[in-house]
Amino acid sequence: MSEASILTMHQIVKKFSGVPALKGVDLSLQRGEVVSLCGENGSGKSTLMKVLCGVHPHGSYEGEIRYKGEVLKASNIADTEKLGIAMIHQELTLVKELSVLENLFLGAEISQRGILDYAQMYVETGKLLKRVKLDISPDTRVGELGVGQQQLVEIAKALGKNAEILILDEPSAPLTESETEVLLDIVKQLREEKVSCVYISHKLNEVKEISDRICVIRDGEHIATRDASEISTNDIISMMVGREMTQL
Ligand code: ADP
Ligand code: MG
Repeated sequence: MSEASILTMHQIVKKFSGVPALKGVDLSLQRGEVVSLCGENGSGKSTLMKVLCGVHPHGSYEGEIRYKGEVLKASNIADTEKLGIAMIHQELTLVKELSVLENLFLGAEISQRGILDYAQMYVETGKLLKRVKLDISPDTRVGELGVGQQQLVEIAKALGKNAEILILDEPSAPLTESETEVLLDIVKQLREEKVSCVYISHKLNEVKEISDRICVIRDGEHIATRDASEISTNDIISMMVGREMTQL
C-alpha cells in the first residue's frame, strides 16, 4: 500500500447463495483520486461498492478492506458514513415531500439546548448547495427538483457528512448532457479538495475525461487497473467484453 492510499480492497470475494458475484477483486484509492469502475451489466460493480459501504457487512464477504490503514469492519452503512465513506446509489433515496434542508439534516438536525437551530442549518445548507453549484433555496421541496438536481442534493448530503470517499453509481445515467457536465465539474472540484471518488459509468467518454485510473471488472473478476491516460475507450471495451474490438 502506498503512503497516500486512503483505501485498499484486497481479493474481495462475495457470493450470493453460494454463487460468486465477485471472485477476488482488488481496488485501491489515493486521496483526491478519481477511479472509475467499468464492466458490463452484472459484472459486479455495484456489489463491490456495496461491500465497501457496508450494505454487505463485514463477515458476508472474503478478503480485506483497509481504510486509512485500519481494517474496515462495517456492520452497516451508518458505520461507513461515520468514517467518511458515502455511496450515492442508482436509486435516489431523498424524501420527496421534504425540503432540501430537511433532507440534508434528516436524523442529524443541528440543535442548541434541545431546540432545532434552523438558522444554523440554513447557513450550512447554503454552503453545501454552493459546493454542488445548485442555485436553489434550502426550502425547495425535493419533489419539485429535476432528477439531475436531486442527484446533486444527494452529493451535498454526502458532503455534509464529511465524506472523504464518494461513490457514484451510474450517476449520469438519468442526466442530460449539460447536467452531466455540471456533475463532472463537481467531481473535479472535489478532487481538488482531496475527496476521493469511485465513479461508475457506462459512458466511456465521461470515464476517460474524469478518471485518474480506470479499473475493469468482468464476471466478478478483476481484469486490469490502468492510468486513464494509458488506455483508449476501445481498450476499455475490449477488456469489459473479453475480446478484441475487431472481433465484435
Ligand atoms: P453491476 O453493478 O456491475 O451491473 P451487480 O454488482 O449489481 O452488477 O451484480 C453482480 C451479480 O451479482 C449479478 O449477477 C447480480 O444478479 C448478482 N447480485 C447482485 N446483488 C445481489 C443480491 N442482493 N442477491 C443476489 N444476487 C445479487
Ligand atoms: Mg450496478
